[in-house]
Amino acid sequence: MPSKTLTLHLREQLAELKANGLYKAERQIESPQSAVITVNGREVINFCANNYLGLSNHPEVVRAAHDGLDAWGYGTSSVRFICGTQSIHKQCEKQIAEFFRKPDAILYISCFDANGGLFEPLLTEQDAILSDELNHASIIDGVRLCKAKRLRYKHNDMADLKAKLEEAKGCRFKMIFTDSVFSMDGDLAKLPEICDLADEYDAIVGIDDCHGTGHLGATGRGAAEELSVLDRIDIITGTLGKTLGGASGGFTVASAEIVDWLKNRSRTYLFSNAVPPALCAAGMKALELVDTSAELRERSRANAKRLRVGLESKGFTLKPGPTPIIPVMFGDAAIASKMAEELLSLGIYVIAFSFPVVPQGQARIRMQVSAAHTPEQIDLAIAAFETAGQKLGVGGVLSSARGAVS
Ligand SMILES: *Cc1c(COP(=O)(O)O)cnc(C)c1O
Repeated sequence: MPSKTLTLHLREQLAELKANGLYKAERQIESPQSAVITVNGREVINFCANNYLGLSNHPEVVRAAHDGLDAWGYGTSSVRFICGTQSIHKQCEKQIAEFFRKPDAILYISCFDANGGLFEPLLTEQDAILSDELNHASIIDGVRLCKAKRLRYKHNDMADLKAKLEEAKGCRFKMIFTDSVFSMDGDLAKLPEICDLADEYDAIVGIDDCHGTGHLGATGRGAAEELSVLDRIDIITGTLGKTLGGASGGFTVASAEIVDWLKNRSRTYLFSNAVPPALCAAGMKALELVDTSAELRERSRANAKRLRVGLESKGFTLKPGPTPIIPVMFGDAAIASKMAEELLSLGIYVIAFSFPVVPQGQARIRMQVSAAHTPEQIDLAIAAFETAGQKLGVGGVLSSARGAVS
């Protein structure tokens, strides 16, 4: 029986994942999302939520969701173009577009869908997409669905991007598309240089700002604002599922024509349900809160700096970067995973990332700092890394041991 063979095959594959420390077990959280969560009946400090400003359970966001539910009901039972467009969807799109100072916006159920439905309707065989090799899976999949010529450039390598633009010279439209914040490494795309090259080669620039919107930039408009190029970016995709309340909902902001075309041709929009109105209401409240959150953004930056300085002083190797994403590098998947277990027992909730989420041999614990963390909680995390590192022989212990013998 073929199904039986498949089951046996998968059983072996799963055993192999476990043997190599690559198996992803899901831990269960027994409380709402917050800086402190309950796991196994114990309170632990959470360092792996995309809750950068602490809005995921902000009382005003929760209130807005309740009000949205009362005013607009639970579900639309429809896609947008049949009977799934309520006034609140239009208001939400208008608010998102205005937030980024662009003409229009289109909502999707998720940013995975926004990226999945972006390229295929806009570009054909005559065109080219230039994509950073470390782009998010949803961009890679979206590009796969599109018939345009695909040119993958080396991560943030402007010479390679230029070479690929040369290669694309005969194409009708050229679109450069990149994550604005690379979520596994915490670095930013070189957007000013990318925009310069786009000008030179007459290319369209699109970014996925999922890990930038709300907390980066002086007013929270994301990585493009942080790098002073917001008005030079043609297309921005993003999510309500991270800083903006953390539930779900994705969007694309662009020119009125691009948005109108996507509403007519984007398959993940046309053939998938409307975003539940309560999520629109909460997302709109979160956008409003971003405007009055300069202090939260400042706190998020100060917390990130405190954690970086602290972990480096204990001998841990971090990837550098200007974002609240702080990758602590271990290399070996099994060690990273043991370290995460050890840290959990010390009250610090972190997750180890290994292949295929990051390249082979680059296993890490990715810390994500929130404005909701207190400096004391950051210090507890640093102390726990030191303790766990000593137990497992990683971090400062190794370097001081080396120092002792030399
Ligand atoms: C999280 C993320 C997505 C997916 O967003 P969802 O709204 O959760 O589907 C897409 N792109 C990037 C860069 C992300 O970090």
